[in-house]
Amino acid sequence: MAGIYVHIPFCKKRCAYCDFFSTTLLARRKEYVEAVLKEIEQRKDEANEPIRTIYIGGGTPSTLMHRHIRRLLEAIGTQDATEITMELNPGDITYPLLRGIREAGVNRLSIGIQSFQPGLLQRIGRRHNGMEAFQAVQMAKYMGFDNISIDLMYALPTQTWESWKEDIGLALALNVQHISAYGLIYEEGTELTRRVQSGEMQAIDEETENAMYDYLCEQLKKAGFVHYEVSNFALPGYEAKHNSSYWDGRPYIGVGAGAHSYIGHVRSWNPSNLSAYIRGIQAGTLLRESETLTDTDRYNERIMLGLRTRKGVKRSEIQGDITPHLEAGNLRRTTGGRIVATQQGLHILNTIIEDLMI
Ligand code: SF4
Repeated sequence: MAGIYVHIPFCKKRCAYCDFFSTTLLARRKEYVEAVLKEIEQRKDEANEPIRTIYIGGGTPSTLMHRHIRRLLEAIGTQDATEITMELNPGDITYPLLRGIREAGVNRLSIGIQSFQPGLLQRIGRRHNGMEAFQAVQMAKYMGFDNISIDLMYALPTQTWESWKEDIGLALALNVQHISAYGLIYEEGTELTRRVQSGEMQAIDEETENAMYDYLCEQLKKAGFVHYEVSNFALPGYEAKHNSSYWDGRPYIGVGAGAHSYIGHVRSWNPSNLSAYIRGIQAGTLLRESETLTDTDRYNERIMLGLRTRKGVKRSEIQGDITPHLEAGNLRRTTGGRIVATQQGLHILNTIIEDLMI
């Protein structure tokens, strides 16, 4: 079993760009944790192998108390886990929280910094400021965490080249082991999309977005990071084990509202609705939807996920015609006979993937 994902859907406020399933109904945290504990109990037997990785994501898991995290980890059992990650918002980080989750077994943090620029953070609706972000990482290091990932965002409306360069410099100055960086996607129905559509804000053009991405890749590479997935960079040995198993197509269990599982070519998912989830678990009638992946689905996933990674995909596994993309310099062949995207190819990765899917 690759691992267990625990979804904590609570957020103190909604960010302006987010379309993930999350809720601000913090008053329901306690009953939600009880429901997740029950689901873990009910589904423990599905993990017929030792659990090697645990990922507590959201939403914002740091809206929970550390005793909730401890109870969740105790219920899962951490004896075989080598990587236990928890996502945190910089604004929630306190020494007691860090101490509590560390004692509970969390050994990897993923801190949602996004930017160090106060104005930009405010415009995208984040509730922390740059100073808090910087201090959050320092506090985590002081408490002994030595496997820290931070998230950054680029191509944000009103983001300037200077501020992006400064953000990368500050991120590197923090000496963390892992950086994830995402270009903004305008999801339908979000506040940011509405503001850009109404002309109140202007989106960054594609050329600038690509240049921001290339600059990021260059700077992180210079600092010794391995670019092991399109949006993920790690110092050698610090690649995220849990997420890597998703990209490698290994099985996992997801618990909590909206969480997905993948076991034996079957993908299943819990309802993305807090009340329906809690009620279903309490009554033992939770309706988990599922689909069995066909050979074609699995091939397409392999292409979609594999080409996002530095390992790429075995040439022999690819059924589509790769020649035009090899000739155009979007793909390259490794000495081990695998096909990987080049830096230029990463700019048009979705097009390449679509071309090779069947
Ligand atoms: S904290 Fe994360 S999940 Fe919550 S609204 Fe913001 S981006 Fe979405």
